[in-house]
Amino acid sequence: MTNLKRVAPQQKPRLGIMGGTFDPIHYGHLVAAEMARGEFELSKVLFIPSGTPPHKIRKDLTAANLRYEMVELAIKDNPAFDLSALEIERKGLSYTVETLRVLRRTWPEYELYFITGTDALLEIFSWRDAEEILTMIQFIGAARPGFDASDFLLKVQEEHAEIQGKIHYLEVPALAISSTDIRSRVRCGKPIRYLLPEPVRLFIQQNGFYTAE
Ligand code: ATP
Ligand code: MG
Repeated sequence: MTNLKRVAPQQKPRLGIMGGTFDPIHYGHLVAAEMARGEFELSKVLFIPSGTPPHKIRKDLTAANLRYEMVELAIKDNPAFDLSALEIERKGLSYTVETLRVLRRTWPEYELYFITGTDALLEIFSWRDAEEILTMIQFIGAARPGFDASDFLLKVQEEHAEIQGKIHYLEVPALAISSTDIRSRVRCGKPIRYLLPEPVRLFIQQNGFYTAE
């Protein structure tokens, strides 16, 4: 929506934040994070697996420490990617606003960019304390197949002009991959190779994740 700004020497360094359930992490997440890093000149992208997500409490959600471990396996070969246990160590439901307050304090010299897919971008006004969130950070909405953000972006332009410059749309190579589909493929005995990093696929196999109904 806005033109990408290049980081001038006097500008603050930028930290990307990639939140998610990551049950399991897949190439859709990794491509969105890496393209956002490149386009917005983010010094680092911090992956933050959610503890107990308020919007999506599945009975069969994989334990937080195991989802964390899968993210660790997936990002270890990218020196610009990092992992935070902030949400999985916090008790109770994970609200993004609380995480962002902590990050704001921990990284005062950084501009914060929250990376989401367009499906999550469409929901941001329903997040707890959305207005406060938009004062703290900028959003990068990475194109996700099946979730067209153009009406949303128009609405922001017309009705929320004050935050227009804080929401950036990012075209990325489209990957119609979702964790839901990966879980259902495993359950049905279908292949998942090439949808996610191989060490994560092997970890899923070794631990027998997603096989039960
Ligand atoms: P689930 O199907 O369980 O909801 P998911 O694939 O949507 O899993 P999440 O952990 O819910 O993955 O997503 C974390 C973040 O990554 C969200 O902002 C989501 O929009 C984004 N994301 C997930 N998959 C893609 C994809 N294929 N392309 C772009 N962004 C994606
Ligand atoms: Mg999702």
